[in-house]
Amino acid sequence: MNLIDSHCHVHFNAYKDDMDEVIKRTLEKGVFMITVGTQKDTSVKGLEVADKYEGMWAIVGLHPNHTTEQEFWDNDELPDGEQVTPKIKTRSERFDMDFYRDLTRHPKCIGIGETGLDYYRIPENVDRTEVMRVQEETVRAHFDLATEAQLPVSIHCRDAYVQQAELIREYTDAGKLARRGVIHCFTGTREEAQLFLDLGFSISFSGIVTFSKALQEVAKTIPIDKLLVETDSPYLTPTPDRGQRNEPWRVQYVAEKIAELKGLTVEEVAKQTVINTKNIFGLS
Ligand SMILES: [Zn+2]
Ligand SMILES: [Zn+2]
Repeated sequence: MNLIDSHCHVHFNAYKDDMDEVIKRTLEKGVFMITVGTQKDTSVKGLEVADKYEGMWAIVGLHPNHTTEQEFWDNDELPDGEQVTPKIKTRSERFDMDFYRDLTRHPKCIGIGETGLDYYRIPENVDRTEVMRVQEETVRAHFDLATEAQLPVSIHCRDAYVQQAELIREYTDAGKLARRGVIHCFTGTREEAQLFLDLGFSISFSGIVTFSKALQEVAKTIPIDKLLVETDSPYLTPTPDRGQRNEPWRVQYVAEKIAELKGLTVEEVAKQTVINTKNIFGLS
């Protein structure tokens, strides 16, 4: 069975001791992957790693959490009360248009992101309005580059779906973002999903859909031709492997859950999500 993990970070430090084994293990299971950079150095590294493997591509950009310096626990991936992952300290950067424009010329660069509005992880000791302003400015820069380079965008959004959809609408109404893109790791409501479907965007589900009842109800209603699957590895490990470091091949558990929810076979979900991912990102 072939699948594509449409969003992972398999070139991150979490794999510094065994990255090539993890990638090979994933490819041997018939799973292709799109690995996503979140700032300058990880965007460059993602392209370098993708260049070594057939069945692997990269997306480049500056994650909204990297526009503010902060520390946080990745609690969302853990069962209640557990805190086993190391605390993440983000490094703050500003979007460097010339730098990222150069990266888009790489043959394995198939998208821009992850970019978006994240109102969930704004630290308490900073000027919230200023953080939101910088996030919006950063999203606009990504949208301008995606429009210019004719690439799709990978959207990371938390607690700001309505504002995010409005920002996208401003661009699509102006004839920009022609390639559209995907809302990665969607965790919103059915109504919020519809805002993005109406804008021509697709919805991607991560391992959260294997354990969140609310999200399962939403996933049921998303048309299969608008749906992608992902792991967001090393984060968000799906059931039944919760608590372990995630790996891209576990996208199969996401596909299995989607199949169960939609009354399809896992082969049907695999086939259609591969088609969807290839169409959005222009993979051959
Ligand atoms: Zn994200
Ligand atoms: Zn991510």
